[in-house]
Amino acid sequence: MLVLKFGGTSMGSAEAIKQVVEIVKEKSKESSILLVVSAMSGTTDLLLNCGTKAANDDESYKEILKQIETRHLETVKALIPVQQQSSVLSMVKKLCNEIEDICNGIYLLNESSLRTKDKLVSYGELLSSTIINAAFNSNGTGSVWKDARELIRTNSNYSNAVVDFAITNQQIKEFVNSTSQKIIVLPGFIASDADNITTTLGRGGSDYTAAILAAAADASALEIWTDVSGMMTADPRWVPNAKIIPSISYQEAMELSHFGAKVIYPPTIQPVLSKNIPVWVKNTFAAKDHGTVIENKSDSTNIITGISSINSLALLSLEGSGMIGIPGFSSRLFAALANAQINVILITQGSSEHSICVGVDVASAARAKEVVDKTFEYEIATDKVDPLQIEEKLSIVALVGDQMRHHTGISGRMFSALGRNGINIRAIAQGSTERNISAVVATDDVRKAVNVLHEEFFETIQKQVNLFIVGTGNVGKRLLAQLKQQQGFLEQHLRLHVNIVGLSNSRKMLINENGIDLNKWDELLQSGEASNLDQFVQSIIKRNLRNSVFVDVTANAIIADVYASLLEKSIAVVACNKVAASSKLSNYKKLKHLSTEFNAPFLFETNVGAGLPIIGSLNDLMRSGDRVHRMEAVLSGTLNFVFNHYDGSRPFAEVVKQAQDEGYTEPDPRLDLSGTDVMRKILILAREAGVQMEMEEITCNGFLPESCVKGSVADFYEAMKKEEAHFKAIYDKANAENCKLKFVASFNDGKASVGLQHIPPQHDLYHLYGKDNVVLFYTDRYKEQPMVVKGAGAGAEVTASGVFADILRAAQK
Ligand code: ADP
Ligand code: ASP
Ligand code: MG
Repeated sequence: MLVLKFGGTSMGSAEAIKQVVEIVKEKSKESSILLVVSAMSGTTDLLLNCGTKAANDDESYKEILKQIETRHLETVKALIPVQQQSSVLSMVKKLCNEIEDICNGIYLLNESSLRTKDKLVSYGELLSSTIINAAFNSNGTGSVWKDARELIRTNSNYSNAVVDFAITNQQIKEFVNSTSQKIIVLPGFIASDADNITTTLGRGGSDYTAAILAAAADASALEIWTDVSGMMTADPRWVPNAKIIPSISYQEAMELSHFGAKVIYPPTIQPVLSKNIPVWVKNTFAAKDHGTVIENKSDSTNIITGISSINSLALLSLEGSGMIGIPGFSSRLFAALANAQINVILITQGSSEHSICVGVDVASAARAKEVVDKTFEYEIATDKVDPLQIEEKLSIVALVGDQMRHHTGISGRMFSALGRNGINIRAIAQGSTERNISAVVATDDVRKAVNVLHEEFFETIQKQVNLFIVGTGNVGKRLLAQLKQQQGFLEQHLRLHVNIVGLSNSRKMLINENGIDLNKWDELLQSGEASNLDQFVQSIIKRNLRNSVFVDVTANAIIADVYASLLEKSIAVVACNKVAASSKLSNYKKLKHLSTEFNAPFLFETNVGAGLPIIGSLNDLMRSGDRVHRMEAVLSGTLNFVFNHYDGSRPFAEVVKQAQDEGYTEPDPRLDLSGTDVMRKILILAREAGVQMEMEEITCNGFLPESCVKGSVADFYEAMKKEEAHFKAIYDKANAENCKLKFVASFNDGKASVGLQHIPPQHDLYHLYGKDNVVLFYTDRYKEQPMVVKGAGAGAEVTASGVFADILRAAQK
């Protein structure tokens, strides 16, 4: 004897039912079959909806009934040959008329009890089982229909009835022994009480029906046929990389389903476990797939078998100094909850005994408060305990695995992975079997938590970093091109999937959680929404995706203002924008502090020397205990380019224009020419070297005449032309001394200055070509011979590659 159960999707259309018929027919060649079916997908919800509407005087229930009737009649027409349809159609019609009578009754009385609701929803399974039974009889396979209500006896706890196994097992055995039919079709989910009133076994209960039958009939196996190819390592609707678990123990399956893996209704395992009957989870739409086998032992060598989660949890905390050392508090608490029929999902108690914390379904929270406060009335009045505290909008995420008890460090890995992603843990529970570790987190964080843990424990192959990029100018474009080019390499070698979720420039913005196609990002962005920074940021925060990184490739102060709100949500910030790191010291310190507090990298290597490893090297020195005394640096690729190309033969303005056209200047080149940009850079280096410095404390010996710093960028070029003699004189003076002009930034014993200097040929800074930068660090360890970082220090390509490197650093935190 084999018990097969097909769920709502498997019964969801004539096409699907045809698959079911084929599968059952094949199986019936080798064994007799008890076939349990669910209602057609969505029917139970629709029936309940009709009842609610009718009870609320809302006549639109009639339209829904029509919809239900049409769907079932159409299914019969598509499934059964015309000549044999009429008797089935009239049976379906008759059942639908009964549903209508019940709903009309509810409508007239404006009242619907749980008992009436059970009667109403029973028609979902009555209809589907009638139809599939007719299908077997129309194609010559043959089957009989048996009303499960005649076999499964329960108490009268409508909507969630408890099975009386003594009577039920006997009735099933007698029935099975009395029939020789190969295929017996039964409606799942429904049963009856001692007065023959219809009851139901709880939502998803058809699985349970099948398990009860399998155990009573000593079936050789129970097969749960559904729309996925087995139990998976996590809910596939949340975790696209979830994997099928080929083999799992009864206990693990029970834990996973109790903690929310909807694929099996939790009570299902108990009856088959006691008889040691293997349970298979199989896919109706991919019948050849192996599926999952649930048995006494699992073959899995994985430490963690799966991850699941439940929502709508409320935490109840009973606290008070009067509890310490006094026995009986917890038993009174649990007795109060049990008497009120409140199911406890999770329990934790601190060893100080100062508080007990239990998790219950949020629907029972108010009732729990009532009964617990009443129980402890005296203790509350005398200040020994506080009134029960309730916290809502919580969820549980659970790691499940038999192998966990043989391994140390699993909870450490679990909590640090959650912590790295800014997910706050409200409570923790681990049973003494060590088969399950559960953490209570905010419901807003639960999807992210499941993904983070899945990545940590199952995805050795891939980690996903989710990028939100602002700016598609020179650097932004190059960055997107580099990301596109490297995607394959990163996946293969770093096992890292870089997912560009958000993209925005000053005109348009675009968000796609599945990743923006880098082959046509500009086209997609064009057709995006009008950009709105606030909305963009809110959407990053709201999505709450794991490993989120905000990338600022603009030079815009307004963008720099949003970093704080991102960092405090544990979202990493990578910026080539220098505004934040060179802003007021208090702001710089605040961002650094948020970065540490919320474990969110704030990286801006490209603020100094574009892609050169300047800040990173300085950070390494500092972290390893070195101290910086002095820095000598040429930090403006622009100014270096300009003075390397200017010798009086071409106007100074023209050389500046060339630098701008080749992408080596800030959008406003005066920031470079005035020395402001270099001041910002030395300021950032000084701060990263641990010095508390403000921009105003830096001395700037500029070389631009007053006339050049007024008006627009166009005015600036005009003014430079007029001042050609001034620039020529500066050049000639240096040339006469056989020196090169270098705009040098210096930091010495806590003081910083920038300015144009005459550099003789023997000087360290003399041999600096093109747009190169150089920094000389003099430290405790590099006393006489400085540590030197030198190379191309400007340009979109190298800046983009520096931003790219920061993104990878943030991803690998
Ligand atoms: P049926 O109607 O066949 O009873 P259900 O909808 O009750 O099907 O259960 C199957 C669904 O359970 C899958 O489509 C999947 O979305 C969901 N699910 C949740 N967690 C898991 C998991 N860990 N493994 C497999 N499926 C899961
Ligand atoms: N039809 C019922 C429900 O939707 C039972 C089941 O499908 O298992 O809950
Ligand atoms: Mg189900």
